[in-house]
Amino acid sequence: MADQLPPVRPDLLDLPGYEPVQPLEDLARVAGLAPTDLLKLDANENPFGPLPVVPEMLARLPGYERYPDPMQGRLRQAIADYVEVPPDRIVAGAGSDELIDLCFRCLVSPGQSIISCPPTFGMYRFSAGLAGIPIVEVARREDWRVHAEAVQAAITPATALIVLASPNNPTGNALDRTELAALLATGVPLLVDEAYAEFAGRSLVNELRRHPQLMLLRTFSKWAGLAGLRVGFGIFPEPVAGLLLKAKPPYNINIAGEAAVIASLQRRAVLDERVRKIVETRAILMERLQALPWLEPYPSDANFVLCRVRDGDGRALKEALAKHGVFVRYFDLPRLRDCVRLSIPRPDQVATLIERLEVVGTDLYARRRPT
Ligand SMILES: *Cc1c(COP(=O)(O)O)cnc(C)c1O
Repeated sequence: MADQLPPVRPDLLDLPGYEPVQPLEDLARVAGLAPTDLLKLDANENPFGPLPVVPEMLARLPGYERYPDPMQGRLRQAIADYVEVPPDRIVAGAGSDELIDLCFRCLVSPGQSIISCPPTFGMYRFSAGLAGIPIVEVARREDWRVHAEAVQAAITPATALIVLASPNNPTGNALDRTELAALLATGVPLLVDEAYAEFAGRSLVNELRRHPQLMLLRTFSKWAGLAGLRVGFGIFPEPVAGLLLKAKPPYNINIAGEAAVIASLQRRAVLDERVRKIVETRAILMERLQALPWLEPYPSDANFVLCRVRDGDGRALKEALAKHGVFVRYFDLPRLRDCVRLSIPRPDQVATLIERLEVVGTDLYARRRPT
């Protein structure tokens, strides 16, 4: 028999991959700058980095030869203390990304579908596609609020789950009370991804008791500066948490991630102070961005700001900024082509960011103006 490539699922042949951000070294090379002169504002990472205790502790951490605890005992207890929810309702994942995938595969039966509200985090569509789950996309309103009535209208007997980010990435706005009430009233299981809850200063964790169909995802990637160690978690009704614990890859949290999270949570006051600084910087940056006549920032509850470019070309702005060592996120999607998303930098980086934006803005607009 002739040699043949192994067949793959035909429905995956045109799966759009998740568009990841480029490594810092590659970005530096493109800009011809030292990595320290770059403003990497494209992935909503923590501009302060991890707490210093994390690399110190990891350098001395014993036990790399042993498998981690598949039941995540110490980790789930530490998280339980943080969110004030019993540990049997918590499941940790290799980033909340893993939990998105796990929830979709465990909560949605063959023939069922998911509702999502774009523009939003790309992983929902990606994970649904990979799992072969149809995803019904109900567009957000003009001001990026969830269109709750349209969601209600889109619900069918096949709807297994509504997934939403709050604050939403990349639009920055959080779910409001009215929208939440309308979505909960449908009775459809609601998975709210609160990756940026710490920057919003609020979470739906207190709603869990009253609404058993509500499930939350959180992460240590953004507020705790641990994106590279991949630890996120979800809060579920206890039977769902039990199922997910059984269904997850047994050793999904490595011992470095587990130890880093526990050490970080023990020094929460320092992390909280950093979050406070980022929120303060968000207000300052917002004012400076509003002063640029060609840029229109949207209000944000997160650690990033979505900005509309008045000449309508987000890609041109992203590329021009990259030449000046400022890396922002551009989305090649229908409603976002005139936008860029930028993460909140450290307070001492705001002046540089604004300077570089002014240079690039002047340049782009001068070139466009007819002479
Ligand atoms: C960054 C982000 C995540 C991913 O977090 P990890 O825990 O690093 O996988 C999840 N949801 C949203 C909305 C995000 O922006």
